[in-house]
Amino acid sequence: MTPDPFALRDPKLASKFARLFSRLAPDRRVKIVHVCGTHEIAVTQHGLRSLLPETVEVLEGPGCPVCVTSTADLDCALKIAEKGAILCTFGDMLRVPGTELSLAEAKAQGADVRTVLSAEAAVEIARRNPGREVVFFAVGFETTAPGTAAVLLDSPPQNFSVLASHKLIPPALEALMALPEVDIDAFLAPGHVSTIIGSDAYRPIAERFQVPVVVGGFEPLDVLYALALILRQLREGRAEVENAYVRAVLPQGNTRARELLAQAFRTVDAHWRGIGVIPGSGLALRGELARCDAQERFGVEGELGEEIAPGCRCADILVARALPSDCPLFGTACTPLSPVGACMVGSEGACNVWYRYGGRPQL
Ligand code: SF4
Repeated sequence: MTPDPFALRDPKLASKFARLFSRLAPDRRVKIVHVCGTHEIAVTQHGLRSLLPETVEVLEGPGCPVCVTSTADLDCALKIAEKGAILCTFGDMLRVPGTELSLAEAKAQGADVRTVLSAEAAVEIARRNPGREVVFFAVGFETTAPGTAAVLLDSPPQNFSVLASHKLIPPALEALMALPEVDIDAFLAPGHVSTIIGSDAYRPIAERFQVPVVVGGFEPLDVLYALALILRQLREGRAEVENAYVRAVLPQGNTRARELLAQAFRTVDAHWRGIGVIPGSGLALRGELARCDAQERFGVEGELGEEIAPGCRCADILVARALPSDCPLFGTACTPLSPVGACMVGSEGACNVWYRYGGRPQL
């Protein structure tokens, strides 16, 4: 039975969590990192940071797929659009800056760039335009990648191809742990991604880096419950994987979706904006599906251009070294209407979310 979402927003229960947090409060600064824009929205929209002890920080790492898409991939998309193809992608991608242009600017100059809600919608556009090449610029994590895999494996029309820029979360978590001056104490693992990959996917990370990893859902009490499990592990000196989102996430994930991913893609190294190359964190089309590889079809290569604008702290925010409020441009020179960096563009970007809802309310 689907739980009543409002039951998961019960303020009385939330205040009980606040009392629990004060009992679990660490006596040193603790940094909990999540990698999910929806978690950041839940935390900021509901003011959950105000319930946490002062010693506990919750930061968004590379949790916004739009924000981490490299200029190289974006420039490939722009070149493909320049060659006359219909370029389809998710709406948030349109305003992310490429080396010289964004897709929205290219569209304003006449490129045929269209917003879609799914890979399937792009295939539909290809069916309706048999005389045109149609390219799906595929971004997103393990949550959206199975949708791309499904259309690739379902005999798409000849005029359809994919510019694959999907990224994988577990290699990103490992990369964060290896970075200097990041000092992560625990991960709040993303519920959506975990429905696909399963909670067991984080065991190697918890064991290798000795950090608690707790999978969390997205209602306020889901997040508070997951944070309580993390704080309890830290207090007890444990570093384990726990699943605080059992109504959606299985240890093994979604087997069918994982099969689709394995059939359609192979893992490759991928460049993440603001972070650099993370080994084994990207997906490329496998075997004979390579005939649907837009990069091959159009013979385009992306060069890594300037990824971070002067003064923008996206590179620190994306690795959980800084909060949006640490950026001097936040809310002044940089707003959602005139974004300076990718973190203010994507609706799941930390700066965008903080601008809309505020960060850590002082109650
Ligand atoms: S507020 Fe704007 S300029 Fe500052 S880090 Fe965020 S996106 Fe970059």
